[in-house]
Amino acid sequence: MSIVTGRAVLLRIHPYGETSRILRFLTEGRGVVGVMARGVGQRTSRGEGGLETFADGTLTLHVKESRELQTLRDFSPRVSRPELGRNLLRLSGASLLAEMILVHVGEEGNPDLFRTFVESLDSVAAAQPGRLPGAILSGGWRIMASLGFHPELSRCVECGQAFSEEDVGRFDFSAGGIRCAACVQDGKGPRVGPGAREELRGLIRGEPPTALRGGRAHLSLFANFVYAHLAVDRPLRTLPFLQAHMGHDDA
Ligand SMILES: [Zn+2]
Repeated sequence: MSIVTGRAVLLRIHPYGETSRILRFLTEGRGVVGVMARGVGQRTSRGEGGLETFADGTLTLHVKESRELQTLRDFSPRVSRPELGRNLLRLSGASLLAEMILVHVGEEGNPDLFRTFVESLDSVAAAQPGRLPGAILSGGWRIMASLGFHPELSRCVECGQAFSEEDVGRFDFSAGGIRCAACVQDGKGPRVGPGAREELRGLIRGEPPTALRGGRAHLSLFANFVYAHLAVDRPLRTLPFLQAHMGHDDA
């Protein structure tokens, strides 16, 4: 048994009996860690003691490598991000980012992923309402890139031909990018033209367009890419909420 301290974000809280909680953290050094927190029920219900989803701080654990759940010694939040709980779209967006991590990330540290996740939560917490869909999608695409899934947007995934200014292709999710018009098979996959390619590049760079057009179409494209690449064995629970709150703006 050893004591381990490091930076962590609280992703999910499950009740366990009257006063205990099972916590899932994304840690900077050890990936996703499950933690048993005994006797914290009162603290959680009063919102004290820092056990709030998306809180970010210093986590200290008693660690025994063979155990599935480690034991909480202390969690001292530095940032609590209460804005995320005050608006359904903000909450759904942050919850989707957390769920992506929970379903896919194991117990291996990935400091780039940790930084990207924290920056994405901050962007979703701070975005003006009109820019919120872009902030959420940008966070999602950046997390995919940190996990090693960066879509190919500049050349055809089949023949390798670079796209010109006017080319319109179709997204091939399992191939991880866009097929040119000549390589499209059976008209499958959503059409992606130069405007959409440019928007996707901005989202992946962390610079979402000021007014993202077709937020729902973007979300659907993103969801299909996630399902093609992340190790998910059932639909993500947070996606329907996000789809419902993203608005009907498919122009
Ligand atoms: Zn091609």
